Amino acid sequence: GVLARSLSSLAAQLEARIGELTAERTQVAQLLTVGREFMADASHELRTPVMTIQGYSETLLEGGADSATARQFLETIHRHACRLGRLVEDMLRLSALEVRPSADAIIEHVDVGGVASAVVDTLQARAEAQRVTLRVEVDAGVEISGDPLALEQVLENLVDNAIKYGRTGGTVTIRANQENEDTVVHVEDDGPGIDAHHLPRLFDRFYRVDPERSREKGGAGLGLAIAKQFVESMRGRIHIESELGKGARFVMRFPRVR
Ligand code: ADP
Repeated sequence: GVLARSLSSLAAQLEARIGELTAERTQVAQLLTVGREFMADASHELRTPVMTIQGYSETLLEGGADSATARQFLETIHRHACRLGRLVEDMLRLSALEVRPSADAIIEHVDVGGVASAVVDTLQARAEAQRVTLRVEVDAGVEISGDPLALEQVLENLVDNAIKYGRTGGTVTIRANQENEDTVVHVEDDGPGIDAHHLPRLFDRFYRVDPERSREKGGAGLGLAIAKQFVESMRGRIHIESELGKGARFVMRFPRVR
């Protein structure tokens, strides 16, 4: 009787342990898949600029191109080198965030209005080139708890997108206010917006609504993935509200600072 009981409790323990191990294995397999997909996507994105730079520089080295053509080739090489640079910066940003233990994260009271104004200053020239008006409507004293540079990066990515994908002559607004238990920060534009079926994947790495068009604008599709990770590192959440033809609004919610 005693032996049978202890055997069956042992069997139950073993079964539970096997269950745990299987779950862990599934998790590890999922992580590996995510990593592999990222490598595949990243390599794919790196390949085009690298091949272009190789091809054009080889032609230049062979000689024979007149100076106008040579200049054109150099411009192409330069453009693709810049794209490579941005891509590498973005990839570093994503990976740095993943390895940084949250214990090391900088946490302070961040004045949202101050950061919003800094972002507007940074992007003013780019906005003017598209005749886009940048507006800040942040209630006085609105704060979040987090890293000011992280918030700046998030707002910069969102406003930069709103300028890039919004409409010429449009308006981009950064809004922030306290709402019960949350601090809510919005970035909205009055551009063409995004069709509903893209929305669930929009924050995925390398996801672009129109890859060709976004590549022309210098994007690799990492801006929103970075924004999401930064927001989550500050215990916030981000989502998008958009309809085709009705602009786009990115909404972030952070726990209210006490
Ligand atoms: P990218 O580097 O291509 O800009 P992001 O991750 O920043 O990558 O954005 C992903 C895609 O979401 C973009 O390619 C673009 O198609 C779409 N998008 C982002 N912001 C907006 C916006 N404000 N209006 C319309 N489309 C947008």
